[in-house]
Amino acid sequence: MNIQSITVLGATGSIGMSTLDVIARHPQRFRVHALSANRQWERLFEQCRQFQPRYAVLLDAAAAEQLQAKMKLAGLDTEVLQGLAALEQVASDPSVDAVMAAIVGAAGLQPALAAARAGKRVLLANKEALVMSGQIFMQAVHDYGATLLPIDSEHNAIFQSLPRGGNGDLRAMGVRRILLTASGGPFRSVPIEALAQVTPAQACAHPNWVMGRKISVDSATMMNKGLEVIEAHWLFNAPVDQIQVVIHPQSVIHSMVEYIDGSVIAQLGNPDMRTPIAYALGFPERIESGVSALDLFQVARLDFEAPDARRFPCIELAYAALRAGGTAPAVLNAANEIAVAAFLDAQLPFQAIASVIEHTLAAIPLGAVETLEQVLAADAAARLIAQEQVVRSQATC
Ligand code: NAD
Ligand code: MG
Repeated sequence: MNIQSITVLGATGSIGMSTLDVIARHPQRFRVHALSANRQWERLFEQCRQFQPRYAVLLDAAAAEQLQAKMKLAGLDTEVLQGLAALEQVASDPSVDAVMAAIVGAAGLQPALAAARAGKRVLLANKEALVMSGQIFMQAVHDYGATLLPIDSEHNAIFQSLPRGGNGDLRAMGVRRILLTASGGPFRSVPIEALAQVTPAQACAHPNWVMGRKISVDSATMMNKGLEVIEAHWLFNAPVDQIQVVIHPQSVIHSMVEYIDGSVIAQLGNPDMRTPIAYALGFPERIESGVSALDLFQVARLDFEAPDARRFPCIELAYAALRAGGTAPAVLNAANEIAVAAFLDAQLPFQAIASVIEHTLAAIPLGAVETLEQVLAADAAARLIAQEQVVRSQATC
């Protein structure tokens, strides 16, 4: 078996750590080429000690200096690099076979795109990259012969439920709809009036999944599902009206594909990201992930309900942005990142997240997207407007 050389972007995060957990189970199969983080150099150091990568990359310069000093003291050979160009370098290095793109938010776009443009096998957790620049990203995957494997559990489930090698034509595959499941997050059944008072700690306490803070808040607002609708559109070439969100509180069915003959094919499993990660790492083979077997007797029942648009306005905002096209999804994503950061910082009430996004979308003239520069400009403009909107809502509180 050929050993695969892997770069893990966002190694210190929730997905990054789950990825390393799976990699550690298969020393004959995988070797770590590079690990990266924003500024968490201490955790990155421990990971370097265990996996001995060729490179460790930090975005933050001060953190990189500290890591470098610590490496020297410990006598480790890993070379410490710093900054965005270094992230792109370790994502596109000729000796790398696969890149786990697990940086959170817009910051993950350029390194993930660098991996696609280098024709790598791209294990994509960073859904924001596709939301912002779906067309450009998918074009790069096509033009440079990259292999794109979805890590998001829903998209991984859809990928597993579609015929292999279907060539992106859902109609030819006999697909009627994609059924994107959602847990409904921690606030699915709390009284709507109580949402005004919810705290970041409550929003981050997801009933089924343990995740980073940004995606946890996205799950609580269900913007996560909105972003995933856009992600599914690009990944599977699915028309917007053929993607249906289904609330399924147990998070056992990770998504489904409905076919024209009435068949519905689903992928099930315990809610543990190591399953989709192991699937993508081993693809097309199946490998051990460390996830325990699904106990159907313990699960006992599977429930489904339609999402409530009044409780979760972010889902419709995302559908509308996808329909509007062009820069709208990038604006939606940037405004969401600003609003979520403000909420996590106790600067914005929970329900104002949706209004900040709505106002930002209304305030920015939408443009076409042909280049990455246009996407980045829309992202920057949206951040400024959203930030102003956050300040304005503080004044009115
Ligand atoms: P996290 O916050 O736990 O980790 C984020 C990682 O990115 C960390 O290693 C951090 O150091 C790094 N990072 C943060 N900002 C950065 C920047 N500006 N530049 C470079 N690196 C930076 O996030 P997570 O929960 O692991 O999520 C990562 C991505 O995977 C997100 O896009 C998320 O939507 C997606 N995802 C996560 C899960 C999950 O279960 N956690 C599930 C599906 C999809
Ligand atoms: Mg998901």
